[in-house]
Amino acid sequence: MRNFFNRIRYGFTQSMARSLSGRYGGRDALNFTLIGLTVVLDILFMIFRIPALTFASLLPLVWAMFRTFSKNIGKRYEENRKFVNFFKNLAARRTHHIYRCPKCRQKIRIPRKGGKTVEITCPKCHEHFRKKI
Ligand SMILES: [Zn+2]
Repeated sequence: MRNFFNRIRYGFTQSMARSLSGRYGGRDALNFTLIGLTVVLDILFMIFRIPALTFASLLPLVWAMFRTFSKNIGKRYEENRKFVNFFKNLAARRTHHIYRCPKCRQKIRIPRKGGKTVEITCPKCHEHFRKKI
């Protein structure tokens, strides 16, 4: 009997692997977030009894499934990279200011230090400019 279940499990795993070959697969931060969002929204809508919105909770799930089965792996990878970078930048803004060089538009990250004015040298074009940090 145990052998029987193992064979079913093996077959299932194999068919999943086959259906995902050449596809993105979707084991990334963006998909985990989308699926988490689906669960959180579902729970919220159940608690507050908003039946019309349970449909809305399907949207992140559908998006996650689309990403999982997408064959455009490069584009999905890029989406996830942007998503992760967005949150990294958010975290960095709490401890750092992000300025742009007035000459070459290079982004420069300066640690926050209550209200002092400092002279910043652009690492790319060596332009000097002053900012309050
Ligand atoms: Zn510059």
